[in-house]
Amino acid sequence: MSKSALITGITGQDGAYLARLLLDKGYKVYGLDRRTSTITTERLKYLGIEDRIELLDGDLIDLASIIRAIQIAKPQEFYNLAAQSFVHTSFNQPILTAQVTGVGVLNCLEAIRAIDPKIRFYQASTSEMYGKIKQPVQDEDTPFHPRSPYGAAKMFGHWITVNYRESYNMFACSGILFNHESPLRGIEFVTRKVTDAAARIKFGKQKELRLGNIDAKRDWGFAGDYVEAMWLMLQQNEPEDYVIATGRTTTVRDMCKIAFSHVGLNYEDYVVVDPKFYRPAEVDVLLGSPAKAKARLGWEPKTSLEELIVMMVEADLERVAKNS
Ligand code: NDP
Ligand code: GDP
Repeated sequence: MSKSALITGITGQDGAYLARLLLDKGYKVYGLDRRTSTITTERLKYLGIEDRIELLDGDLIDLASIIRAIQIAKPQEFYNLAAQSFVHTSFNQPILTAQVTGVGVLNCLEAIRAIDPKIRFYQASTSEMYGKIKQPVQDEDTPFHPRSPYGAAKMFGHWITVNYRESYNMFACSGILFNHESPLRGIEFVTRKVTDAAARIKFGKQKELRLGNIDAKRDWGFAGDYVEAMWLMLQQNEPEDYVIATGRTTTVRDMCKIAFSHVGLNYEDYVVVDPKFYRPAEVDVLLGSPAKAKARLGWEPKTSLEELIVMMVEADLERVAKNS
């Protein structure tokens, strides 16, 4: 009999890639989907899997809806990817972020504990928890110092996952994922904002690109590679936490250079620094060590930053051309 998986955040970037991966592995895939007035299944459509997924109404802050979804899906694996995931917004909506990104995790764990504590649980933790970094290269043992309501909410989610594993012997894992991007990345995140702008400027549809702190450094990988690590974590004999990263860090500035040079432009002619995009507290640099993931999961990133950004620019060129 095929396995069943329930994914929260299935309409997001990672949800779509993970759903495709699990479908390819023969899983029956269910997704928790919150009702909105606009269509949110564009990413599932983009990957051609919309019709192969069963969406169940629900919201991370509505415990009853999570319980109902588990009762219907009867999953062996539960991937909690839903979150208010944008750092900038978390400064404007800190309470909502705490409720969804923090307490929402507890709702999932409580629902699993009540219905079937044997369900394996994956929590989408983040490198934003390292924030004001304590070590130049961050690994599973590096102390946290979050710099945003998002990072703080994710820390609650992380530790409550660890706590349920230790308290109730649940198979609960936390993947501490560094930034990962793709053509399906939300347009508000810096990589996609840049690749979209490079495409639009190339087609004469935009004149400049306004950015905040372009000296910030991130360890960027490809979302398609990272969802494989999520799955691998839940296939192990023991539940553990893993850092998933590339081990290379790059400035926003250099990432712009890659994107613009791919369309034959010089980013310096178009990028304008606008303090509107600065954050009240910034995470200056992140650089992760995927050594444990490599040793235990046999996981390694397959896509370089250059390949990733070119893939994103190409997808945006296609989108802009289509809408011309
Ligand atoms: P996205 O922002 O693309 O997707 C977030 C998903 O959460 C969407 O499906 C969204 O639904 C859903 N969601 C938001 N609020 C609720 C709610 N109240 N109830 C139910 N669903 C909700 O994020 P990513 O795919 O990029 O990231 C997946 C997870 O991994 C997130 O938890 C994120 O914080 C975390 N993460 C991401 C990293 C990255 O670089 N991408 C790095 C580290 C961690 P809707 O479509 O309706 O908005
Ligand atoms: P984050 O690491 O989850 O906050 O991912 P983002 O893609 O939102 O931001 C990555 C880094 O890019 C942060 O240090 C931002 O301050 C920086 N950055 C600079 N300009 C911008 C911008 O215009 N938008 C966003 N989203 N980030 C920017």
